Amino acid sequence: MPHTKTKTAAMDEPRHEREGEHVVTAEHKGSPVAVAIGQSFSGGQYTLPPLPYAYEALEPHIDAETMRLHHDKHHKAYVDNWNKTNQALAELRKAGGEIDQAKLNGLQEDLTFNASGHILHSVFWATMGPRAGGDPIGPLDDVITKTFGAFVAIKAHFAKAAMGVKGSGWAILAYEPVGDALVILQVRNHDLQGIWGSDPLLPLDVWEHAYYLKYKNARADYVAAWWNTVNWQAVGDTYIATLRMYGRK
Ligand code: MN
Repeated sequence: MPHTKTKTAAMDEPRHEREGEHVVTAEHKGSPVAVAIGQSFSGGQYTLPPLPYAYEALEPHIDAETMRLHHDKHHKAYVDNWNKTNQALAELRKAGGEIDQAKLNGLQEDLTFNASGHILHSVFWATMGPRAGGDPIGPLDDVITKTFGAFVAIKAHFAKAAMGVKGSGWAILAYEPVGDALVILQVRNHDLQGIWGSDPLLPLDVWEHAYYLKYKNARADYVAAWWNTVNWQAVGDTYIATLRMYGRK
């Protein structure tokens, strides 16, 4: 969605200009996860919701082929494997006191890996969009400025966090509810180095499958291009919804 109040004016106005109060466009459902996850659980199974825009919608920054593979194959695998892991755990529990320790350890890892993969990808899709980019708006802009000094400062920190992920992982701008604070996380795989209870406002996938077709080994170019896909309206909406969920707005 455009950042401005009216669709007609949106395309012509500089994106860095704010119009006073943030105009929330999304229905308030609570946390970013609650907003993004949509109808992704039915009949006792986790399911893959469709991408919320066309595969080519993020061109030229993220190519259609990458989006198709990323959503239809990689994300789907995390959904399927979360279901399979739950099934395998249920089977394993039938052994009662004779549960196989090695099998259990493997499944516990599979559980957090796949569950977190499904959740993070759902938020990732929801925080990007066509005709996006620019600067944060409204209360999110205010708290970013308060926390990091300026948007350029958070961009530098966030990009370094993304660049520094060893192997596969994510950089995530998250809301940490205990201190009512924004925090940048450098997450390994999907599930390591997170903070309990924090809400992923803006996750960036830096697994090679997220960029290798177009950017090859140039992760920095992918990160720089990704900023052009960030839907600050959506991120700002969920930030406000998150504060309300905690009774802070
Ligand atoms: Mn991914």
